[in-house]
Amino acid sequence: MSTLASSSFLKFAGPVITDEMADAVRDSLLSGWLTSGPRVAAFEAALSDYHGGRPTRVFTSATAAMEVAFEVCGIGPGDEIITSAMTFFSVGNMIEKTGATTVFVDCDLTTRNIKLDQVERAITPHTKAIVPTHMSGLPCEMDRLYNMAQKHGLRVIEDAALAIGSSWQGKRIGAFGDIATFSFHPNKNMTTIEGGAAVFADEAEARRAEVLRFHGISRLADGTRDVTVAGGKFNMSDVSARLGLGQLAMLDTWNAHRRDLAHTYMTLLGPIADEFGIVLPASAYPNEPTGHSWNMYCVLLPFTKPWQSRLTRKQFIDAMHAQGIGIGISYEAMHLTSLFRSKGHRDGEHPNAERIARQTVTLPLHAAMTETDVARVVKALISFLAKA
Ligand SMILES: *Cc1c(COP(=O)(O)O)cnc(C)c1O
Repeated sequence: MSTLASSSFLKFAGPVITDEMADAVRDSLLSGWLTSGPRVAAFEAALSDYHGGRPTRVFTSATAAMEVAFEVCGIGPGDEIITSAMTFFSVGNMIEKTGATTVFVDCDLTTRNIKLDQVERAITPHTKAIVPTHMSGLPCEMDRLYNMAQKHGLRVIEDAALAIGSSWQGKRIGAFGDIATFSFHPNKNMTTIEGGAAVFADEAEARRAEVLRFHGISRLADGTRDVTVAGGKFNMSDVSARLGLGQLAMLDTWNAHRRDLAHTYMTLLGPIADEFGIVLPASAYPNEPTGHSWNMYCVLLPFTKPWQSRLTRKQFIDAMHAQGIGIGISYEAMHLTSLFRSKGHRDGEHPNAERIARQTVTLPLHAAMTETDVARVVKALISFLAKA
């Protein structure tokens, strides 16, 4: 088995590819069918099964899945789409590409998920959809979210890029609700190299997505083709889908291991967090049995402005790197990118998202890691903070 553990550098994220998976990919490469075919159909069926039989289609990325999902929902100019200032850039980009207006609200400091009371206040007669991200794999408060959406007649497109295998009160994300989009990028909980999926509530919408992902083509009875809509080109290859089938079979095992590793981080960091000014991530909402799939373990560290202190994030990342430990940053505040500044957004609009953007670091967490790796990361982190 080839895993990240085989190199001494501990990456902050990455996939597990077994010899068996590599052999299966080789077989599909040599099978004579490379692009979308029987393996894509089988992968879609397996993903649909995993999500309680819901209509499922795969794409070249979660970003592509979201682009098509927005089109299926008819989102366009004049619409307002509410999302969190703390999520990956692709969400804002795809909203803007439709011609709709991105309406940001802040996130909670420890769950990092969208603040639903602020969502409710942001709803106007132009609001068409809410696009919440299940940050790091922790589901948003689904009951409140869907009650609100229903009350105001809004679509919900869940950015579940980080949340495959997560659950809310025992129900899998994607197995209920409106539309959920997943990512199979190598840093996510399972991979197809690049790839994504959308799970729909409605079979007719899934069929429209299928047309939109492949040139808008419909096949006619006489064997010729027609184009009914200006579709794009977002279909997954059979080679990727074969890898996805092998990965999906391991997903629950890997997610259970991720939960154990996150628990070890919590156990080691919990008692000393206050002393060192560390803000730990929430592992659940109070009184909600939440199934967190722990794509990332992100903590806030007491970084100050570079001109005020020796303790900057760059120094931390460099120091950890020197010890053979990779550190990520997830994410920047989306409303403060040049794209959204050019549309009038400014510092101070979303304090939690902005603080997270300044102070967050993503510690290594992936299925190939051991408890010993976690202890090594915590030791290096503490020794850095103790010296700072
Ligand atoms: C990775 C990620 C995406 C995009 O996934 P791709 O498959 O790379 O397009 C979207 N949202 C979040 C929160 C992500 O982490």
